[in-house]
Amino acid sequence: MFDYSARPGLLDGRIILVTGAGRGIGAAAARTYTAHGATVLLLGKTEANLAQVYDQIEAAGHPQPAVIPFDLETALPHQYDELAAMIEKEFGRLDGLLHNASIIGPRTPLEQLSGENFMRVMHVNVNAMFMLTQTLLPLLKLSSDASVVFTSSSVGRKGRAYWGAYGISKFATEGLMQTLADELDEVSPVRSNSINPGGTRTSMRAQAYPAENPLDNPTPEEIMPVYLYLMGPDSRGVNGQALNAQ
Ligand code: NAP
Repeated sequence: MFDYSARPGLLDGRIILVTGAGRGIGAAAARTYTAHGATVLLLGKTEANLAQVYDQIEAAGHPQPAVIPFDLETALPHQYDELAAMIEKEFGRLDGLLHNASIIGPRTPLEQLSGENFMRVMHVNVNAMFMLTQTLLPLLKLSSDASVVFTSSSVGRKGRAYWGAYGISKFATEGLMQTLADELDEVSPVRSNSINPGGTRTSMRAQAYPAENPLDNPTPEEIMPVYLYLMGPDSRGVNGQALNAQ
């Protein structure tokens, strides 16, 4: 596991948006960030999932989060602008952005992958992530120590057969991370890095590996050290890096 121990209050006062915050790794990151003092904006497709995470955070007595139902598959450009305007009005800036939401799509030889399925995965995993990054960048630049964290995968670092559009979308994720990191290096305090979570006990993992014993993988809560490290002040100056959670 990534070797980092976060101090209490590490993220005090920070405003952090997490995509796919309703379940899986995103929900664990949202709960973990609030437990370390951040105000978290919970963005996801399914409102009921977001509401459940909201209730858990409230019951724990951590800073009150905001719920943002937002479908990355269907959102239009004006909806990204409205989202940024709402965040600016309510919070005035953004200190962290965790790009976590993804879909896996069909795992099949490329020869048999329909164009429709390829484009759907690329739209949710790449196009929407670009739109969100670009729209929220002015708000991140208002922070004195902003961090953008991208979620990759081992199949986004070395191509693997039958992973379809998903693996390709994760290569694009690394590309977006590196390009942003290089553009902002030394001209802005905004840093940009990626995490490969590694096999983690979630519904996506169960979908990809139905025959596997889920207990063989760590829970989302167990892989949080690198998520805390990259979102907090201890990673100041770390930019353009591809890290592993495990
Ligand atoms: P998951 O359990 O399937 O959760 C996916 C999340 O993405 C859900 O919160 C879901 O929201 C959200 N999402 C999907 N489509 C969306 C859309 N159109 N609009 C808004 N939100 C949408 O996945 P996970 O295992 O936690 O994975 C989290 C990240 O880690 C992903 O980027 C994944 O590629 C990466 N990863 C995971 C593993 C692993 O072993 N689990 C390994 C390597 C990389 P709803 O709840 O609304 O559906």
